[in-house]
Amino acid sequence: MKIKEITVVSGKGGTGKTSLTAALAAFAPEKKVLCEADVDAPDLEILLHPRPEREHPFMGMQTALVDAARCIGCGKCEDVCRFDAIRMASGKASVDKTFCEGCSACTIVCPQGCISMEDTRQGTWFFGRTDLGPMVHARLKPGGENSGMLVQLVRKEARLTAEREGAEFILTDGPPGIACPAISAVTGANIALVVTEPTMSGKHDLLRIAGLCERFGTKTAVVLNKADLSEEGSEKIEEACSENGLPLLASIPFLFEVVHAVSQARIPSKELENYLAPIWEKLKAL
Ligand code: SF4
Ligand code: SF4
Repeated sequence: MKIKEITVVSGKGGTGKTSLTAALAAFAPEKKVLCEADVDAPDLEILLHPRPEREHPFMGMQTALVDAARCIGCGKCEDVCRFDAIRMASGKASVDKTFCEGCSACTIVCPQGCISMEDTRQGTWFFGRTDLGPMVHARLKPGGENSGMLVQLVRKEARLTAEREGAEFILTDGPPGIACPAISAVTGANIALVVTEPTMSGKHDLLRIAGLCERFGTKTAVVLNKADLSEEGSEKIEEACSENGLPLLASIPFLFEVVHAVSQARIPSKELENYLAPIWEKLKAL
């Protein structure tokens, strides 16, 4: 059986993407694996409460390390570093890891050969179990690099888990935006489900993420959330979907009960129950 992957994304944050992902996970009867690919702001775990089984360091790019005992304080590394990552103090150089981009230029110019590159932990990924199925999730450390690489890693682990446990599909909570982590989240997924809202920025960012999905060959479908907050805005989203051949699976009104459920770290499945079956059936048809 071929495992399907649905990645829920949004051009912008705050559209209700994670709430809908959690509610779909609770609704879908099929055997599934849950994947948190919003590694900068991993909120799905707040709603799904995974029980941790394993945790692994995520080693991203290498960063520079100065052997202070051999440093003669010539400052050549500081001059060559385009990212202002070298600090000189008391005649010695040191590297501010937050700024280091791992380009290795300092290792080349150092006359003492006292700068080396070392693996650097950029975050952590986890395997756990929820009441709805196994879950792979991750947290990038604040200021951590290589978020796209971490997204790729959790998706790969989710797929291995699905194969091992005979799951039919993977439901992935993707990141907002259209940058590197979003590219990593939608590439190779069967469907990117874009959650948007009836605002100018909602329309603008919907078209940007849809363009990204098209560029990477991922089929796109749309859910319009908080639709009743602006009739005009909703019409504009509907027009944008129709003009760009994007299936609009549902329009959900603003439901205060959803906000209330999420504020209590509870999946808003009951609150969204009228919308989940049609969305899920249409997703499966696509
Ligand atoms: S590896 Fe590159 S970015 Fe990092 S300290 Fe050296 S020169 Fe600067
Ligand atoms: S280039 Fe090497 S020797 Fe010179 S300040 Fe930097 S680390 Fe020290």
